[in-house]
Amino acid sequence: MNDSSGGTVLIRGGRVIDPGSGLDRAADVLIRDGRVERIGVGLESGGARVVDATGCLVTPGLIDPHVHLREPGQTHKEDIASGTACAVAGGFTTVCCMPNTVPALDSPELVRWVMRRAAETGHCRVFCVSAGTVGRKGERVADIAGCVEAGAIGISDDGDAIADPAMMRAVLEQCAKCDRVFMQHCQDPAMTRGSVMHEGAVSRRLGLVGWPREAEETIVERDIAIARETGARYHVQHISSAGTVDLIRRARAEGLRVSGEASPHHLLLTDEAIERQGAAAKMNPPLREWSDVIALREGVADGTITVLATDHAPHSADEKRRPMATAPFGIIGLETALALYAEALVHPGLIDWPRLIGLMTIEPARLCGLDAHGLGSLVEGGVGDVTVIDPEMEWVIGPDDLKGKSTNTPFLGWVVRGRAIATIVGGRVAFQQTRKAVALG
Ligand SMILES: [Zn+2]
Repeated sequence: MNDSSGGTVLIRGGRVIDPGSGLDRAADVLIRDGRVERIGVGLESGGARVVDATGCLVTPGLIDPHVHLREPGQTHKEDIASGTACAVAGGFTTVCCMPNTVPALDSPELVRWVMRRAAETGHCRVFCVSAGTVGRKGERVADIAGCVEAGAIGISDDGDAIADPAMMRAVLEQCAKCDRVFMQHCQDPAMTRGSVMHEGAVSRRLGLVGWPREAEETIVERDIAIARETGARYHVQHISSAGTVDLIRRARAEGLRVSGEASPHHLLLTDEAIERQGAAAKMNPPLREWSDVIALREGVADGTITVLATDHAPHSADEKRRPMATAPFGIIGLETALALYAEALVHPGLIDWPRLIGLMTIEPARLCGLDAHGLGSLVEGGVGDVTVIDPEMEWVIGPDDLKGKSTNTPFLGWVVRGRAIATIVGGRVAFQQTRKAVALG
């Protein structure tokens, strides 16, 4: 990604929201040489490229702390260029990529390789989450300090949990030493052998191997105990069960540095989607029941869940067409996340737009230490990463809206409201969407 565009952009007439500083007012934003030069009323364009933000929210660039860019090794699904094209189309200026590539991101050399590749081919900022164990195998602690020094902003074996508690403790001790967050994919492997979907009435009806909530909750409970002992910062990825929300709520009340994230699909869908859509709705962790969806939404509303993350997980159409038992887990999410979060949280009145923006900017920035890079904020003199959102724009999610190599989403055809109309990365307009009303029906 080329940062030094040198161009000047004036975002005119929007509602400027910066949750980190509490700013929320009508103003223009002038960006010059990659920085926010001024936030004020009636700014002169002076030859700047003008973005009309009438009726729009002007926010810090959105941050997704959990995406899969599939490079190196699985570039038939996605690569850094295509994945970051999805990101800017969804309003994201920064993404954090998970280490379950081929090979796994478990060494400083690989972290540097991805960052160099992102600088050359990416459309937005990319930060690496590096593996906690060598090859993500859960057997030997990876060179966490080396990876952090190379630029890793978090540690995870995502795709798998670290199953051995002694290994988990050793990894958390390293994370605490490096002051980096550990992000756990909470899945007890012994409880989920061959599991395809949530264990319940639907799995029994379909005759598919179930995946109980306890497979997630027992890992979370164990890890909170280890986090308490080690003082490490611990983060639960893609929460799926109501019990996990309760465990995190209690840990936070105790003052532990424990957090969790929710993904669009877990805030909107239940296991019944599997019955209707098959592998298109096959996720890891699985979609659960309506009571879990409600608990996740309440967890966001009461401040237990502080971060939203897509878990953008591209897979080819051929792979997703396999039978339920062998089709891969996961769906894409970057292009549709903002509208779907609004659908789950803002439109029903659980939180307002400034809260939603906070969950997508300053909160993930703090989680990953990106606030130290000036990301997640919109302030004079700060980094020129800005997203312009039309909160009322209604649109139908269609194939043309998907910018990556894969189109595996169960949300095709959904009518949603709210969309990023401009994404500015380091002062450069990386994406712009025309605002003409979409014909519905
Ligand atoms: Zn995961």
